[in-house]
Amino acid sequence: TASAPADGHDARRRVLKDVFGFDDFRPGQAAVTEALLAGRHVLAVMPTGAGKSLCYQVPALVLGGLTIVVSPLVALMQDQVAALRLAGVAADTINSSFDREANVAAWRRVASGQTRLLYLAPERLMTDRMLDALARLDISLIAIDEAHCISQWGPAFRREYEELSRLRDIFAKVPIIALTATADEATRTDIEARLFAGRVETLVLGFDRPNIKLGIEPKQDSKRQLLDFVRRHAGRSGIVYCLSRKKTEDVAAFLEKNGVTALAYHAGMSKEARDANQNSFMTLPGVVMVATIAFGMGIDKPDVAYVFHTDLPGSLEAYYQEIGRAGRDGRPAEARMLFGLGDIRMRRLFIEDEATPAEHKRRSHGRLDTLIGYCETAECRRQVLLGYFGEEASSCGNCDNCLDEAPRADGGAEGRIILTAIAETGERFGAAHVIDVLLRHETEKILARSHHRLASFGSGVAHKKDFWLSLIRQLVAGGFLMPDPDGHGGLAIAEKGHALGRGEVSFLYRVETRQRRGKMRSAQG
Ligand code: ADP
Repeated sequence: TASAPADGHDARRRVLKDVFGFDDFRPGQAAVTEALLAGRHVLAVMPTGAGKSLCYQVPALVLGGLTIVVSPLVALMQDQVAALRLAGVAADTINSSFDREANVAAWRRVASGQTRLLYLAPERLMTDRMLDALARLDISLIAIDEAHCISQWGPAFRREYEELSRLRDIFAKVPIIALTATADEATRTDIEARLFAGRVETLVLGFDRPNIKLGIEPKQDSKRQLLDFVRRHAGRSGIVYCLSRKKTEDVAAFLEKNGVTALAYHAGMSKEARDANQNSFMTLPGVVMVATIAFGMGIDKPDVAYVFHTDLPGSLEAYYQEIGRAGRDGRPAEARMLFGLGDIRMRRLFIEDEATPAEHKRRSHGRLDTLIGYCETAECRRQVLLGYFGEEASSCGNCDNCLDEAPRADGGAEGRIILTAIAETGERFGAAHVIDVLLRHETEKILARSHHRLASFGSGVAHKKDFWLSLIRQLVAGGFLMPDPDGHGGLAIAEKGHALGRGEVSFLYRVETRQRRGKMRSAQG
């Protein structure tokens, strides 16, 4: 690209081709390696399988000198070192599972300048002795793998990672790259603050899987809906996710009865039975695997034609991971989910039943709201999904909303009613309070803050609470409203929301069957 020096660009490509045998960078790799070679710190957020390793391995070889790679697990380090050596790259690791002689020999290669990449666990790197010794060498680059381990919000916090925040001062002239596949905003902000004091270029790339068509339908007769869907993909392999173990067996039996080759998979089955079913799925054509989330880790079958969710998944991250098992061969594939009110209730109960502190529950409810917002949105689903991960996208043309398969209505007027109430209450309150204002509820909180005197008090009585809740979630999903970043549930108006207020942009909302049914019920009295 224009800003990279031509020779740096050529050197990168030469290394990519000569050492790793690849003709082209993936988009994320091109952007990340360019920023590193320009000397900037980078936080690279890329999904598993996107090719994070090359993001630092290529610059390491272009720059020469020594690159330090921090990784949490000895097994991971050994795999990487073995792979690099196979490619002819001088890589080493010094770690606790080797005997002293092996570590001494490795250190000699490092100290003599032979080693290009040295893999270390954080606790080994951050000793005074190691840091002093490394300070005398020519360090070109530091890479911190699995960087989410530094965040208490992340799924895998490790105390040893906290020490790594000293690296930017100890090696003040060395570019640092942190890598993670964990995309949620709280974790990312935490990594930026702890490792880089905020001075870092964050690049979120590679999450888009454009060949997977995204779609959601209201849950009515779920087995019938599933069967219709599976029949449209007759003869292809697919994965059907169910919430419970029992349901996987019911559904698999139901499909079998209707002439579809289907197998069940869940953690309650014997290991032999699981392995046998997995093996059939991997090797025979056209098998449908009906599974709980226990199925999927490390499954790399390229020709899975679809992933079907009979129930709401645990979070938008989980959903993304699960649908990502479809279409790895790049051919058209489909992700379909059934979505019903009962699922929301069930997930809320799960959260309430967890033995976790209130703070944790609040965040879990917030994550669930995000997922529901994705389900309800009438906007391009891919935009909403990628937007959640921080990646920008234009309308995809490959989701049910872009293809206009779902009934939608203009929600401009209703959207402005919500925006007015949020503005009048100072952009500090959550959906529940805003809806109380709209519905003329004289709650203690309303009276205490004199919100019953606002112009918007009672401005939404034409609709029920569920309608407004759904619309607010859709406004959040569509980027019109912003949930406050601390996760306290307060809603603020985003730039796009102001534009809606001025009538400059439109807001379509999804008309759910249950809303139509709700209206019928209320019409019947
Ligand atoms: P991650 O760490 O992001 O999960 P890896 O670094 O393990 O991903 O890479 C995933 C796979 O993609 C590896 O098999 C790797 O060889 C392959 N890969 C990486 N970059 C490229 C590329 N530019 N072209 C083709 N294959 C690539």
